Amino acid sequence: SKIEAGRFELFSEDFPLDEVMAYLRRTFMPLAERKNIGFDIEVDTTAPETIHGDRQRITQVLTNLLSNAIKFTDSGQVKIAARGEADHLRFDITDTGIGIPDDKLESIFGVFQQVDGGTSRKYGGSGLGLAISKRLTELIGGSIGVISAPGRGSTFTVKIPLALAAEQIVKPAKVIEKS
Ligand code: ADP
Repeated sequence: SKIEAGRFELFSEDFPLDEVMAYLRRTFMPLAERKNIGFDIEVDTTAPETIHGDRQRITQVLTNLLSNAIKFTDSGQVKIAARGEADHLRFDITDTGIGIPDDKLESIFGVFQQVDGGTSRKYGGSGLGLAISKRLTELIGGSIGVISAPGRGSTFTVKIPLALAAEQIVKPAKVIEKS
């Protein structure tokens, strides 16, 4: 098998940004409707039509962030916006939810970190989603950050490089041949 303990390989393929956005719409629109909040997707003209990168990991990170955005929002809306910036693709996931206190903005990316016990009881969850999202984003050469106003909402920003170092890349087709 191509997967070895302690080793992480990047997969890279060309895929349309639209397909990822359509998947996110199908997945999250019903959840937003159930909570009676808005769900918006915006793709700026600066965003590339085709992404060359690790489709599965990119999708997983966006899925984690949107799940949180909807979970922690009881009124208003959740939005994901994509745009191209210099050498990277940028996603902003914005919600009008409960927000995050300033002194927790860093720790929430740690394993099992939740803003408080009350929150975890009310909202559920493992406290792992953001730690995994941060790790995955960094492994694909990107970065993740957050700004928030308690009681007003949060914006998580993910930046993903548009070109990965060639030696890091394993084409998915190769893995399929080997298994
Ligand atoms: P969980 O399984 O608890 O959602 P995460 O690692 O995904 O774990 O998030 C860690 C904590 O960060 C959450 O428990 C919550 O306190 C806070 N958090 C994450 N996303 C948001 C958000 N969009 N709005 C408010 N708080 C958030």
